[in-house]
Amino acid sequence: MPVYISNAILKKIKQHAEGIYPNECCGFLLGRQNGNGKDVADILPVDNESEGGEQYHRFVITPQTYLKGDRQASRRQLDILGFYHSHPDEEARPSQYDLDHAWPWYSYIIASVINKVTNTVTSWVLKEDRSEFLKEDIVLDGK
Ligand SMILES: [Zn+2]
Repeated sequence: MPVYISNAILKKIKQHAEGIYPNECCGFLLGRQNGNGKDVADILPVDNESEGGEQYHRFVITPQTYLKGDRQASRRQLDILGFYHSHPDEEARPSQYDLDHAWPWYSYIIASVINKVTNTVTSWVLKEDRSEFLKEDIVLDGK
């Protein structure tokens, strides 16, 4: 099931990722699921709440932040479709940490930022048995 996203929203993700480099950015993907996949309508950038100087390679969204995101999504009649985060100077593939902390169904967009410039953007969804991530297609709609 692909993730549909506009160029404008993808640009917002890149700007967030590059602006916060060399730390790791994160945020929500808001939108709706349709018959063909997930339709991302907007993003909601949030602070990386990881502690102990680990912000360069892991992201944490606390339950409080999740609730905030959920409220904001319902106010706009949207759902939380997943999350995005950046990998500063790393490949755009999920880390073991990402796998250990992922929830089923949600899409995880990862932006690889090399030397402050976004390189690759990929999307992943947890396999049903949670053993690994499966890569999803990102379909750009050009808006
Ligand atoms: Zn990651």
